[in-house]
Amino acid sequence: MHPGFVRAPELLPVPKAADLPAGRLSGKRCVWCGKAATDDLSARVSVVKGELLRWEPRSCLPCLRREAKRVYNTHITVCARCTHRDYCLDSKALFELGFPQ
Ligand SMILES: [Zn+2]
Ligand SMILES: [Zn+2]
Repeated sequence: MHPGFVRAPELLPVPKAADLPAGRLSGKRCVWCGKAATDDLSARVSVVKGELLRWEPRSCLPCLRREAKRVYNTHITVCARCTHRDYCLDSKALFELGFPQ
């Protein structure tokens, strides 16, 4: 299976929906920095004021790359499937996103 089948943005944790201003919650602005958003992070389901909310966080490219790098660096230290010779699909997808060639 090609690593491209794993959507790396889905693996990135986003800030709590309940704490976000409307622009970041609606996907108009980057969920992390509040600048204009360009990339989808996939739909999330969060609890806001006691109710389930389905929302679609988005991000700017610099934040997307930075978060992919951060999650990748953590992932490879905790993932049981990643060894020095072989990496799991999640890890490959995060690497492609965080460290573009
Ligand atoms: Zn950003
Ligand atoms: Zn892994």
